[in-house]
Amino acid sequence: MTAGQSRTPLVAGNWKMNGLSSALAELRALSDRLQASPAPCDILVCPPFTLIAAACQAAPQTPIGGQDCHPNASGAHTGDISAEMLVDCGATAVIVGHSERRTDHGETDALVKSKAEAGLSQGLTVIVCVGETEAERDAGKTLDVIAGQVRGSMPADATPDKVIIAYEPVWAIGTGRTPSVADVEDVHGSIRALLRQTLTNGANMRILYGGSVKPANASELMHAADVDGALIGGASLKAVDFDGIIDAYR
Ligand code: PEP
Repeated sequence: MTAGQSRTPLVAGNWKMNGLSSALAELRALSDRLQASPAPCDILVCPPFTLIAAACQAAPQTPIGGQDCHPNASGAHTGDISAEMLVDCGATAVIVGHSERRTDHGETDALVKSKAEAGLSQGLTVIVCVGETEAERDAGKTLDVIAGQVRGSMPADATPDKVIIAYEPVWAIGTGRTPSVADVEDVHGSIRALLRQTLTNGANMRILYGGSVKPANASELMHAADVDGALIGGASLKAVDFDGIIDAYR
């Protein structure tokens, strides 16, 4: 993936705990669509761990990522997957700190940061997810919560070419609800200001929006100020929908 002054947009799919081997047909279909009509943006697909190696074989031109990694390289961590293992099976990126990990597995900012550092140490591009709950938004705490998560989860030595922030309001994930474009721009603008303050070249770090992005709403969300692409859950499972979102940049 390439990020520069112009911040090449990224459209990333997160399959979550969905997809058996048969789902690779969707990945092949996506790959065929991208060959027929190339994407003027970066693309990433993050299937479950079980499909990563097969996905790399099924669609060699499509970058494949993991949805999580353990902070350690190896050891007695039953059921976990290390960043090194992701690389070993062909992944080039990893998502860390998704709200479902933060909620279902009690992941803290400190843990997310250590996972991000593990990913970077193996050369992976790292997508760090942040987002407020509905209660936090209703209490007017959105910008404070997001600033705290960005500061707390940001790996040491983060650079814009290897770290990407994904802003995903928890209440918008999988619900069909989205913030207004003005609200998205408000949060992305505040993240951008923080990145500029705290990182060298923070202006160049990509900030994705995630939460109920579909082909029908992709264009307005992805062309909002300081939005550099999208992290897509449900709509990434079908090639036609994922490609329909990519259309926002064609
Ligand atoms: C996600 O979980 O990262 C996500 C954005 O999900 P959805 O697109 O289904 O809301």
